[in-house]
Amino acid sequence: MLRCEDTMAHSLNSGIWSTSPLYQNAVKDLDMAGKVMGIDPNVLERLKIPKRAMCVAVPIRMDDGSVRVFEGYRVQHNMTLGPAKGGIRFHPEVNLSEVSALAMLMTMKCALVGLPLGGGKGGVRVDPRQLSRAEQQAITRRYTMEIISMIGPEKDVPAPDVGTDGQHMAWMMDTYSMAKGYSVPGVVTGKPIEIGGSLGRGESTGRGVVFVIEHAIELMKKRGTWKKDLKDATAVVHGFGKVGAVAANELYIRGCKVLAVSDFYGGIYNKNGLDIAAVQKYMDQNRKLEGFPGADAVTNEELLGLQCDILVPAAIDGVITMDNVKNVKAKLISEGANGPISSDAQQYLEEHGVFVVPDILANAGGVIVSYFEWVQGLQSFFWSDDEVNKRLASVMKDAFDRVAAIQEKYKCGMKTAALISSVERVSKAMLYRGLFP
Ligand code: NAD
Repeated sequence: MLRCEDTMAHSLNSGIWSTSPLYQNAVKDLDMAGKVMGIDPNVLERLKIPKRAMCVAVPIRMDDGSVRVFEGYRVQHNMTLGPAKGGIRFHPEVNLSEVSALAMLMTMKCALVGLPLGGGKGGVRVDPRQLSRAEQQAITRRYTMEIISMIGPEKDVPAPDVGTDGQHMAWMMDTYSMAKGYSVPGVVTGKPIEIGGSLGRGESTGRGVVFVIEHAIELMKKRGTWKKDLKDATAVVHGFGKVGAVAANELYIRGCKVLAVSDFYGGIYNKNGLDIAAVQKYMDQNRKLEGFPGADAVTNEELLGLQCDILVPAAIDGVITMDNVKNVKAKLISEGANGPISSDAQQYLEEHGVFVVPDILANAGGVIVSYFEWVQGLQSFFWSDDEVNKRLASVMKDAFDRVAAIQEKYKCGMKTAALISSVERVSKAMLYRGLFP
């Protein structure tokens, strides 16, 4: 198998884009896929730098009367296949390079699952846990106004990500609509149902994470590398937010024993399995997992190294690197978060027989149902929960099977295989459209 270092000779674009490990890993992964598939280097180079980015100041009046200024970003990585699509993150670590890397992953994700959408991402460098609801609303509205020339239903359609939810999307949609003078629901996805959201969008990413676990188990059984049914397996979920909590619940309702889950403050562990419905209830009441009765406290670091069959990293990027990868005991990993495993750690895991379903495949459920929401909104015709889920399951199964077939063909890792599928689709479209002017 080709190693990461073999691709290092390729240019890693310097300058403002590549300052974050997430961006450096994304370019390394892209180089690796390019080398395995033997792609035209001109196309590959074009995919390493975003199409455009906007950096804005977001000044707001705080509840105490003071004014604070936050940094905001919106990046459109590639729009060859259609309007940019990607979430808005409110997190204290947000920066231009990280947002650019996440936009690149969105290009790859949309292409992988066959959506007529490009890749975008946005964010504000802020810790939303320190803000009141009024302050969050002010940030969301001012940020939306600052990037308004970039977004729109035919241009760039944001969605929730870390630290944002349906309420933030409702404020974005309202701000955009006020500026236009009429209601424009198609400007964002992940909206509340009452203003044009799709049934099943809230659960879509976590559900997809578990769909691919089921497909991976089926495939590994065929290959003779896995024996247990999901109902007899154990799992650990890192991050108990919009993705992690749903993934934990989907595993739990399939009979899988979820031994531990965590949030920003730490994790909870029970060797006999957690009652995820009770954990969710506790989380809703207390806003954190700490103190959940009948479970031991573990740190986030300890949680990643717990003995289990399945690991779902669903919090943030860069949590498994060469520093801690040797602690990981799981034999199957489904990347709920974007970029939770560094390129070299990914390689290490694959070389040690761990089956890793990569982020652009594992967590694609969110953007798939966002696309359904966008389509339903444009037609003003809404589908049932059952229809949304059936279509989601079918798109994810097709994508999983395609990636598994590419993996077998090229004898590479699943991440490289997923990227090959994405790059094939984007590069064909780029070549047909040609280079402007
Ligand atoms: P969220 O804000 O709802 O949840 C994040 C969770 O991670 C929370 O439990 C939070 O406490 C925890 N967390 C944050 N920082 C942490 C840290 N340093 N250590 C441990 N835990 C930490 O966010 P989300 O929407 O669930 O997104 C999680 C990941 O999934 C992100 O990487 C995001 O980009 C990715 N993702 C989300 C969606 C979606 O539809 N929401 C879709 C695709 C990918």
